[in-house]
Amino acid sequence: MQDGRTVPGSLPSMTDDALREYLSERDLDVSGEPSGGSGARPRFVIQRHDASSLHFDFRLEVDGVLTSWAIPKGPSTDPRDKRLATPTEDHPLDYADFEGRIPPGEYGGGTVIVWDTGPYQNITEHDGKLVPMAEALADGHVKVWLSGHKIRGGYALTRVRLGGDDDQWLLVKVDDAGADRRRSPATTELRSVLSGRTNDDLAE
Ligand code: MN
Repeated sequence: MQDGRTVPGSLPSMTDDALREYLSERDLDVSGEPSGGSGARPRFVIQRHDASSLHFDFRLEVDGVLTSWAIPKGPSTDPRDKRLATPTEDHPLDYADFEGRIPPGEYGGGTVIVWDTGPYQNITEHDGKLVPMAEALADGHVKVWLSGHKIRGGYALTRVRLGGDDDQWLLVKVDDAGADRRRSPATTELRSVLSGRTNDDLAE
């Protein structure tokens, strides 16, 4: 695995890269084993937001904020699916724990649950080298390894031009051990991983 490649100024990323096999074989939340690296790994969150139109807000912790996309159909575990992901405004880190009811008439009025969350790793590579997150986002090619409760393994986010709009993205499951063509978690697994509540529980 180690072949002397160097990535200037990103030693922790090299550590993450070297640990990919270790991390892919384990559920650290269950086993309690160390995740390695220096300090906490960044977190992702997917919030199910039942607003004027139902969607899932996919957020990645990057440089102290939650970089965000709205995904109407939510993430798929089937590598054949391409899920439209529309960029939305950055959110503060503590938004990752937010569940509640936003009053009607307010921006995003409706209910929000934490549908899935966990640590993630940037695994974006170019010419065999890890690409820092900020650079990958600017390039429009991002690959992340998600270690959630419902969503696990590699996902690719790619910026595409759709109907004259050049800032739409597609979220696609990488065909790895976390792929499952029979599951449809976005439509069948509706409870919060934090509280066990559904959006309807909050609306009531
Ligand atoms: Mn939303």
